[in-house]
Amino acid sequence: MLVAPAGTAADARNVLVLYSNGRLVPANVDVERGFKSSIVDSADRPVEIFSEFLDYPEFVGEDYENTVTTYLRNKFAKRPPDVVVAVARQSLDFLLRHRAQLFPGVPIVHAAAFRAYPNPFPTLPADVVGVPVEYDPAGTVEQALRWHPKARHLLVVTGTTPRDREWETLLREGLAHFEGRVTIEFLTGLPTDKLLARLRGLDEEWIVFTAGFYQVGDALKYTPRESVEMMAKSANAPVYGTFSSFVGTGAVGGRVPSFAATGQQAGSIVNSLLDGVSPASLNLPKVMLNELNVDMRQTRRWGIADKDIPAEAVVQFRQPTFWEAYRTVAIIGGTVILLQAGLIAALLLEHHRRRKAEMALVQRGGELAHASRLAIAGELTASIAHEINQPLAAILTNADAAEMILHSEVDRREDLQMILTDIRRDDLRASDVIRRLRTLLSNKAIERQSFDLTEIVSDACAILQAEARRREVTLVVRNAATPGCVFGDPVQIQQVLINLALNAMDAVAGLPGDRRTIVVSVEPEAGALALTVRDRGPGVAPEHLPKLFDSFFSTKRRGMGLGLSIARTIIEAHGGRIRVDSDPGHGTVFHVLLPVHGESTIPTTTLA
Ligand code: ADP
Repeated sequence: MLVAPAGTAADARNVLVLYSNGRLVPANVDVERGFKSSIVDSADRPVEIFSEFLDYPEFVGEDYENTVTTYLRNKFAKRPPDVVVAVARQSLDFLLRHRAQLFPGVPIVHAAAFRAYPNPFPTLPADVVGVPVEYDPAGTVEQALRWHPKARHLLVVTGTTPRDREWETLLREGLAHFEGRVTIEFLTGLPTDKLLARLRGLDEEWIVFTAGFYQVGDALKYTPRESVEMMAKSANAPVYGTFSSFVGTGAVGGRVPSFAATGQQAGSIVNSLLDGVSPASLNLPKVMLNELNVDMRQTRRWGIADKDIPAEAVVQFRQPTFWEAYRTVAIIGGTVILLQAGLIAALLLEHHRRRKAEMALVQRGGELAHASRLAIAGELTASIAHEINQPLAAILTNADAAEMILHSEVDRREDLQMILTDIRRDDLRASDVIRRLRTLLSNKAIERQSFDLTEIVSDACAILQAEARRREVTLVVRNAATPGCVFGDPVQIQQVLINLALNAMDAVAGLPGDRRTIVVSVEPEAGALALTVRDRGPGVAPEHLPKLFDSFFSTKRRGMGLGLSIARTIIEAHGGRIRVDSDPGHGTVFHVLLPVHGESTIPTTTLA
C-alpha cells in the first residue's frame, strides 16, 4: 500500500483552474502567470494547482459538456479541489451548470469573466466570487479619436462563430454613440483575402477596431490574437482591440483589462479562501480596472507623440528615446565635440594671430621695400636731377631764343613754331621722369595685377640710363620681342631690377671702359620669363655666395646689405626664383625667373 509522505500531496490544498479556451491562448497564459505569481504556497500550507481547458469554441455542446463533466469528476475524485477557478465566462457558465455533478460545495472563484457577455451576468451563489471584467471598447475608440484627429471612419471587424457574433452585438451597442462623429462600418465574416484587401485600401481617415475572431468566411482557423496579427500586418490604418494580448501583434492597443491582473486578483481571493475566510465576507471591487495598454512601436508608427500617451498607460515595447538609447555615445560624442570646438576655437585664434602677425610682417616688408626704394632714389638723385635739369635748361634756352625772335623785325613764325614744339617735348620729357620717379617712390599698398614685364623693364631702364651715363657705364637693354605678362606688383619688380642694375654698375665702377657695360634682358624661358642683369665686373667671391641674399650682408663701405634680401623676398612673393651665377674675375649674372601669368609655378626644368 502506498503511503503519501507527510507534508506533501496529502496535506496540500488543491486548486483546479478551468480555462474556457485552449492552453496556449495568450490571454490564458497571462491569467496563469498572474495567478501563479500571487498564490501563497508555503510549507505549512502547500498548494497544488491543476489546469484544465474547455477548448471553447472548438468544442461545444451538451454531449461534450457531459463528457468533460464525467472526465473531471473521475479525474479529481481522489484529489478533490478545495477551490475551483473559472477563467472567462464559458468556464464559469459551465461550472455553474454542472456544479452539482462535479464539485458540490466547493467554492468557485471566477477570473476574466466578462460581465456583459453573454448578457446578463448570472446571479451567483454566495460561494461563487470574483471580480468581473468590463470591456471598454468606447473608451478605446475615444482615445483613438483623440490620437488620430483626421479619422472620419471606424471599421469594426468581427467574425462568425457564436462568440464572434456576441462581440458584434456588443460592439454595435457599445460604439453606436460614435455615429455622427465618425461613420461606422461593420465587416463581419468576410473571407480572409477580401478582408485583408479591404484593410490594405484604408488611409489616414480610418481607424480599425476589433475583438479578433476565431472564424471569418472560411473554416475555424484563428485565435483572436492571430487574427489581429494578420489584420494589423495588412491594415493601412491603426488597429485597436479589446484584449491586452493584442499588444505585440501590430495593433496599437486599447483600453483593456489586464489578464495578468485578473489572474492575480483571482489568486489573492483563492489565498483567502484557502485560509478559511468565508466567500461572503470578502470585500471585492465591483469590476476590474481597465488600463490603457499600448505598443510603443505602433504609437510611433502611427504618429502618436510620446507625450500624448497618458502617464498611467501600460506601455510595452518601450522604445528608448534618443537620450536613453545613446546616452553614453551622446556624452562621449558631446565631449569630443566640445573638445573639438575648443580646439577649433584655439586654432582659429591662433590662425587670427598668425594672420595679424603675417599682415604686420607684410606691412613691415612693404615699409622696408619702400625704405629701400627711397635709398635707391637717394642714390639716383644726381642722375635724376640731371634728367630733369636737361629739359628745363633746354626749355630756358628755347624761351630765350623765342624772346630774341620776337624782338627782331623779321617774321620768323616758323622758327617760333619749332621752338614751341621743342619746349613741349622737353616739358614732356621732364614730367615723364617725374612720373616714373613718383611711381617708384609711392608707398601704396601692394597692388597685384597682370602687367607686361618688358614694358616695366623699359620704364625702369629709362630711369637707369641717366645714372648709367653719369657713371659712364653702357646700359644695354635687350627686351623680348613679344610682351610677356606677369602677375604681381610692377613697382616692386622695377625695384628689384634697379637694385640689380645699380649693384652691377657698382661692380664695374673703376674698371676699364670695355668692361663697363651691363646688359639687362628679358626673354621667355620654358614657360617662365627670365629677367637677367649681367655685368663684366670682378664677380662674387665663392665664400660670399652663400650669404649674398642674407640681410645686412654687404662688402661695400657704405652698403646696407638689404637690396638682394629684399629682392629675393619680392621675387618669391611673386612665385618666382632669383639666383646668381658668378665667374670670379669675369663677371656676374643675376637671373630672375617669374611665372607667366596664368601658370602658377615655374616649370621645374627651368630651375635646374
Ligand atoms: P648692398 O648693395 O647694400 O651691399 P646688396 O644686398 O644689394 O646690398 O648686395 C649685397 C652684396 O652682394 C654686395 O655688397 C656685393 O658684395 C654683392 N654683390 C651684389 N651684386 C653684385 C655684383 N653684380 N657683382 C659682385 N658682387 C655683387
